[in-house]
Amino acid sequence: MRRAAALIAGGGPAGAAAAIRLAQGGAEAVVVERRAGAHDTVCGGFLGWDSLAALERLGLDPWALGAQPIDRVRLSAGSRIVEAPLPRRAAGLSRRTLDEALLARAAEAGAELVRGRTVRSADLGGRTLRLDGDEEMAGDALFLATGKYELRGAPRTGAAIESAPLGLRTSIPAPPDLAGHIELHLFDGGYSGLLVQEDGSANLCLSVARHRLKQVEGVDALIAELASESPLLARRLEETAGLEWEAVAGVPYGWRTHDSEEGVFRIGDRGAVIASLAGDGVAIALTSGLAAAEAFLEGGPGAAGAFQGSFGRRSNRPVGIAETLRWSAERRLPRAMAMTLFAAFPRLAPLAAKLTRIG
Ligand SMILES: Cc1cc2nc3c(=O)[nH]c(=O)nc-3n(C[C@H](O)[C@H](O)[C@H](O)COP(=O)(O)OP(=O)(O)OC[C@H]3O[C@@H](n4cnc5c(N)ncnc54)[C@H](O)[C@@H]3O)c2cc1C
Repeated sequence: MRRAAALIAGGGPAGAAAAIRLAQGGAEAVVVERRAGAHDTVCGGFLGWDSLAALERLGLDPWALGAQPIDRVRLSAGSRIVEAPLPRRAAGLSRRTLDEALLARAAEAGAELVRGRTVRSADLGGRTLRLDGDEEMAGDALFLATGKYELRGAPRTGAAIESAPLGLRTSIPAPPDLAGHIELHLFDGGYSGLLVQEDGSANLCLSVARHRLKQVEGVDALIAELASESPLLARRLEETAGLEWEAVAGVPYGWRTHDSEEGVFRIGDRGAVIASLAGDGVAIALTSGLAAAEAFLEGGPGAAGAFQGSFGRRSNRPVGIAETLRWSAERRLPRAMAMTLFAAFPRLAPLAAKLTRIG
């Protein structure tokens, strides 16, 4: 059986960040990633200043990858629109570009990439992964980084996956007044985010409660209904017939763990899932990947429990506040009150953005 010091399941931002730091620290790191090449993924593409700082620590320059600067947030609910400056510069960058750049950096640092292979299940006690083709791989430590996707043998205990929201993503032509903004459209049961990405198109990403999809026939009908509730979203979707959507089901916002098995590091969305409204999931993925790798380099596989406890505590504030914001955004009356507050006190929106960063 193939053995590595650090065996990483999943090569998204969390898995790649861990691989880069592990390889830089001299540990043998192997990443198993099911996608063979560049791909889109359900994500808003918003990189907060904490994501940008983590990328810099990993030796990547997001601006050189074409990231588009974002300095303002525009909130819309029904016919109301409120704008505010962000406390610091953020960016829009597609995950297609970001994930490939991170994996290339991991390979350059000396990590081994096993691409186009799927981990079918994990045995956490034995610290092994079973891959497609029935191949088994073992690690002194396992890094679980399959993100939004469930992994047999490594459940997110207590996460209400079946009732959790649905994520959808597509690209549309960027309207001229979107430059420099992250635009959020709030509606009953969810919200959508829109920003300009590196190729000049706009990334449109939605989080929607399942009951909204069940009430209509398919995604196109859902989008038409949401547009009828949000004039700004309707305007953005004018002349965009035949959109192709990527989807992910069961994103358990608010879930996090504070412990793990000996030698098992749970990173990114496997450790803490922040509401996508906050736009901080990539920062949590990068930061937890880096912190887990540091913990392993210092303390070996036995450091997993302490890492998980400390990262769980660190994620409590941003994840908890993001849940409160999501709760308010998805309900008519709290949403109306929040819009009134944001309009009256323009410093509240940047404060909310600040408090939902992992830092
Ligand atoms: C609708 C929506 C919008 C969002 N918008 C934003 C945003 O704008 N900004 C932000 O910061 N965060 C956003 N997020 C959150 C962000 O996408 C996640 O927090 C982040 O992607 C987590 O990174 P990760 O590396 O843990 O997992 P992922 O990004 O999910 O990566 C997991 C990787 O593992 C691979 N994989 C999965 N299963 C297997 C397997 N069995 N075998 C091998 N490989 C496997 C996948 O192919 C993937 O490459 C959003 C989330 C949603 C749902």
